[in-house]
Amino acid sequence: MKSIFGPVPSRRLGRSLGIDVIPAKTCSFDCIYCESGPTTCLSVTRKNFIDCSEVLEELGAFTRKNPNGADCFTFSSAGEPTLYDPMGELISAIKKAYPQIPLIVLTNGSLLWKPEVRQGLLKADRVVPSIDAVTAAVFHKINRPHPSLEIGRIIEGIRAFRKEYKGQLHIEALFARGINDGPEELSAMAAVIASIAPDRVELNTVVRPPAHEGTRGLTGEEMTRVAGFFSSLHVEIIGTFQSQGQTGTDRDLEQRIVETVERRPCTVAELAASLGVSVARVEQESERLGKQGKVSRVSFGGKSYISGPEHA
Ligand code: SF4
Repeated sequence: MKSIFGPVPSRRLGRSLGIDVIPAKTCSFDCIYCESGPTTCLSVTRKNFIDCSEVLEELGAFTRKNPNGADCFTFSSAGEPTLYDPMGELISAIKKAYPQIPLIVLTNGSLLWKPEVRQGLLKADRVVPSIDAVTAAVFHKINRPHPSLEIGRIIEGIRAFRKEYKGQLHIEALFARGINDGPEELSAMAAVIASIAPDRVELNTVVRPPAHEGTRGLTGEEMTRVAGFFSSLHVEIIGTFQSQGQTGTDRDLEQRIVETVERRPCTVAELAASLGVSVARVEQESERLGKQGKVSRVSFGGKSYISGPEHA
């Protein structure tokens, strides 16, 4: 399977089968908090990275093998899904084949000012664009966008999409300590998001190791303070929080990798597929675990495996 992963258990979505049509770290942003590492291809050029037919074949193979295996399909990747040029065609084909399974698109929203991108998303059941900042200075600090992108134009694109789209529009806002959590930016964000009138606002923070080392998350108490700015909206705090001053680490993922490879050596791709995270995340985590002596790398039959420490 090249383009589907999981299903990933999700508190809100049930078992979410991931659809990934973008090469890792091909993105229009290079967010300081990205859990998939720094963007290696900063681009706004939409391309056909994989044939729609291949994605549909993989979905077909999964659903034949697991007839009730997914509660929803989610476009999500270590890059920006709307950079996939035939997105509209693929969404239409998936909804035609699986009308009963909700289809969700997670996007950074950066290309919604393009009418063809908005048009392509109309048949999705839920679209979740991000707004982490509304002023140019903070936008550049947190999202480090492609030079051609302007925050005002992006917000207008999301606003236009709200008017055209009949499905559920959720907006996700992620907060990093000292970057976009000041009262002025929060007030401005709340006003802009309220004017868009999304069905829900999801507030998040840095809970996994970020692309930019110094990036910090907010505590639960600080997130409650942030939520107060959005009190006129249907708001939900998502994610779990670290105590003040800690860097983001994912103890759960660490444990799941160690437990999995202790029983059976796995390639990075196998771990990413079975744990429902990106290949980049597994690479990053297993390198860290390797330095701590908790896992090792072994080669066999021309392939590289992550293995338990006893194989070192
Ligand atoms: S967090 Fe999303 S939008 Fe930001 S760099 Fe990572 S993949 Fe791109």
